[in-house]
Amino acid sequence: MHILVTGGAGFIGSHVVDLHLAKGHKVHVVDDLSTGTIQNAERYFGNPLYKFDHADLLTFDRIREVAAWADRVYHLAAVVGVFRVLQDPTAVLASNIAACERLLRAVAASNWKPDVVLASSSEVYGHRDDGNLRETDDLIITAGLNPRWSYPISKIADEALGVAFAHKHGIPITLIRFFNTIGPRQRGKYGMVVPRFVKQAVAGEPLTVFGDGLQTRSFCDVRDTVQFLDQLANRSNDGIKAVNVGNDREISILDLAKLVIERAGSQSEIRFLDYQSAYGEPYEDIRRRHPSLDLLHSLTAHGHRYTLEDTIDHLIAEVRTQTG
Ligand code: UDP
Repeated sequence: MHILVTGGAGFIGSHVVDLHLAKGHKVHVVDDLSTGTIQNAERYFGNPLYKFDHADLLTFDRIREVAAWADRVYHLAAVVGVFRVLQDPTAVLASNIAACERLLRAVAASNWKPDVVLASSSEVYGHRDDGNLRETDDLIITAGLNPRWSYPISKIADEALGVAFAHKHGIPITLIRFFNTIGPRQRGKYGMVVPRFVKQAVAGEPLTVFGDGLQTRSFCDVRDTVQFLDQLANRSNDGIKAVNVGNDREISILDLAKLVIERAGSQSEIRFLDYQSAYGEPYEDIRRRHPSLDLLHSLTAHGHRYTLEDTIDHLIAEVRTQTG
């Protein structure tokens, strides 16, 4: 099987690569290394099944050739992370929407119809806090004219592109609404609370909780996530669908901070920061994010293998090894 992974040097992408190389599949990664890292690509150099192109999808000149080669496409390349989104909201809109369209056009141009797994996000649910977010719910984006919303808007546009190309060209597409994903190789540079807390706890520094810490998230280990993606891709011929992918254990950010401190046996304190100080500008956070996983479980046979504690313990051990 031939697998194309855009954003394959990123955090989730590199785990998708792991999964398919382990199955003996040929994997081609295209990544501009804007959030991905060369280390995530280099780890496979020398593997004859692996090919890497350091390229931006907006200008990659062999996009059609590579799309025609693939049996399955994971489109994971995107500008992600709250810090990056706030730094460069125009890049979010340009890259996320235009690159997705260019890729789908390339797929449509080949006579071959690979299964396409297209990365969307739980951010498309906006700031609804009713819990148990379902794929059939309306998507609500605030009327606030703040660049913070460029990310969910770009992902809603990607979903619309996916629907349009699936409809017009019969391409089998699955839209993945990723809920907070965590695990090995995730970096805290652009946001991403768990690696940040782990690093702070191991270093004995204060854990920086933004806002009152009562906002909640539901975290899923990436090694579970990629199993779900693989199984969903196998079913993409069932017709276009949007599916929540995550874990439904909900935890407040303050409790997360306490848990990380406890698991690390750390003496770190918790420091509250208002959003203005944290992000350098006013920020509208999502108060509650909790997925309904009914659809995911009805379409897949995978059960979560990693608890939040497992992932945190793994990350603590990883940071300790790196820092010696
Ligand atoms: N957060 C925090 N401290 C940090 C980084 C993030 O308290 O050092 C909070 C952030 O405000 C949000 C939650 O943790 O409420 C999750 O943030 P992340 O950027 O990981 O993901 P997202 O906001 O996209 O869910």
